Amino acid sequence: MGDVKGDFSAWFQSVADTDERYPLDEVIYKSKDGHLLEVCHDLEALKKVPAEKWKRHFEKRSRRTEWPYGSGVWGKKEWVLPGIDPKNVVSMYEGHTNLFWADRYGAQIGLDDLWIKQCGNTHTGSFKDLGMTVLVSMVKQMISRGKDIPAVACASTGDTSAALAAYAAAAGIPAIVFLPRGKVSVAQLIQPVANGAIVFALDTDFDGCMEIVQQVAEKDGIYLANSMNSLRIEGQKTVGIEIIEQCDWKVPDWIVIPGGNLGNVSALAKGIDMLIDLGLITKKPRIVCAQAESANPLYLSYQRDFEVYEPIAARPTLASAIQIGNPVSIDKAIDALKRYDGIVEQASETELAEVCARADRTGLFNCPHTGVALAAMEKLVKRGQIKRGDKVVVISTAHGLKFVDMKVRYHEMTLEGIVSENPNPPIELPARYEAVRDEMLRQIETRFGC
Ligand SMILES: *Cc1c(COP(=O)(O)O)cnc(C)c1O
Repeated sequence: MGDVKGDFSAWFQSVADTDERYPLDEVIYKSKDGHLLEVCHDLEALKKVPAEKWKRHFEKRSRRTEWPYGSGVWGKKEWVLPGIDPKNVVSMYEGHTNLFWADRYGAQIGLDDLWIKQCGNTHTGSFKDLGMTVLVSMVKQMISRGKDIPAVACASTGDTSAALAAYAAAAGIPAIVFLPRGKVSVAQLIQPVANGAIVFALDTDFDGCMEIVQQVAEKDGIYLANSMNSLRIEGQKTVGIEIIEQCDWKVPDWIVIPGGNLGNVSALAKGIDMLIDLGLITKKPRIVCAQAESANPLYLSYQRDFEVYEPIAARPTLASAIQIGNPVSIDKAIDALKRYDGIVEQASETELAEVCARADRTGLFNCPHTGVALAAMEKLVKRGQIKRGDKVVVISTAHGLKFVDMKVRYHEMTLEGIVSENPNPPIELPARYEAVRDEMLRQIETRFGC
């Protein structure tokens, strides 16, 4: 891919002190005074390439086979991890997930231009692949250059561990995952099990697992793969770039995203920042971060204009991947929301379950986190903040098939505390034509009125 040339570079930098810098192959997660680090790029070098040229460059690589640029993440390698040797990239050609017009669902709720970015249509079924390809590639490069890294580890509400296990297995690097016992779906648990990770199910919640993984990182030299490690954010930030590319470089009015540990909302903003800094776009979308009411520390802070923030003890939610009371990326997320005229909204268990079911009836197949995002969006539409003609993109974070337990219980009407307004359980009948015909005709008439 010879047509874009430059001396591109990136490094870790403290979010509080721009002079505190580290190379990306150093094992470090926080600054001296305990702030998160972020990956910074030499924007001056990137700016030497005209905006139009970047656009054509990205479009040309898209979905092609030349290693590793066919990946949605690595097609933007210069903006992500310019210093990685392509032979150290560990990729499943993630990204390039479909962005589609949800016209029927949109019409039902009063939106003409609603789009869903289906980030779950990817190797391990969630957007976590975007970040993990970057992190595991960096680890592979460090190991190949003689760094002593015995294993990579993460605490997870399910999807992070699935992605880590898959990418580590693809690279032949040992992976360790810490899951809260009984709090992840069967599909999420079986992925790291099948990929050969060392899987610990601990009697605690996500925040408890997070404490353990930080200890093994600190005391035993295990490489930390949680989103506190800002290499993941570099991969995840491509979602914002990709959405705008898929909108033919026209910026939508709103992007709605569910948030738990809040790495992804920060990443979304970081990707769009680069588009603005490098002149590919001029307008900013507004960002809406959606939280489950049971795990809403950001929402509570937003209610008080972000002037105070307190971690909470997250209560159980069907949106298990965002059941987080003490989000690691809180500061980055608040900063992002302030810069993108952001709104934080929340959804109750009933709201998220009913919105999922209703939207599924129009052909979607939503995970509960996407349900949280859709429910939040519907509230903003009802309040008149999002207008009928606005272009809205909702980031669907995982594939619905990873969360079938919740859907099964919804349609069986066994979800605790939820009525199930639109259940559609299978109809059990003897295998007799007359019985089937009578019931079939009755169903067609009651459902479709014809
Ligand atoms: C991880 C995850 C989220 C939350 O992302 P954060 O970066 O933790 O805010 C939302 N949905 C799904 C499906 C996830 O796996």
